[in-house]
Amino acid sequence: MGKAEILKELEDETRLAELPLKAGAINLVFGKGSPEARIMFIGEAAGRNEDEQGIPFVGAAGKNLDNLLASVGLSLNEVYIANILKYRPPENRNPLPEEIKAHTPYLIKQIKALCPQVICSLGNYATKFFLANGDVGKMDEQPGITSIHGKVRIIEFEGLRIKLIPLFHPAAIIYNQSLKVEWEKDMEVVKKEIAQKELF
Ligand code: URA
Repeated sequence: MGKAEILKELEDETRLAELPLKAGAINLVFGKGSPEARIMFIGEAAGRNEDEQGIPFVGAAGKNLDNLLASVGLSLNEVYIANILKYRPPENRNPLPEEIKAHTPYLIKQIKALCPQVICSLGNYATKFFLANGDVGKMDEQPGITSIHGKVRIIEFEGLRIKLIPLFHPAAIIYNQSLKVEWEKDMEVVKKEIAQKELF
């Protein structure tokens, strides 16, 4: 089975799972992009637009992410985009630890199907999830995005060797324009990393 078929089966499996937040959501927001991508972007959770369309990053934060991708010469043909949570939390509130615990096994399966070489974690939740090596109970102990954004580190995650590049969440740029300069510098880091033919 190719990666596209594996992801399709996994999406169907996720849709059938009795996950927290499912009852209040319109759609499962599983992922978008290329099954052959070497680089994954992982956000937090769907907002209203994403919930309505069942596609991640299609609202205002998605526009910033599209610009980000374009600025480093990437398109949806080369990346895969998903979230920590697969359903929208009510009123876009922060994810709860039990929700992260219940939803991330599906994210982990997505990552294992794709085998990305680079993961750009968008914002605190995604970043702390990887820094805690998937142990949700240890997420609180991890450094915040403000101190580690743009700093590349190699992690061993679920048997995969991955370059993790923590980035500010694209929604944060909307509300805090002063982050834009930092964000653009971080894009240079992403650009440099993905320009390498051999990533390790
Ligand atoms: N913010 C996220 O983290 N994910 C989305 O899909 C949309 C907004």
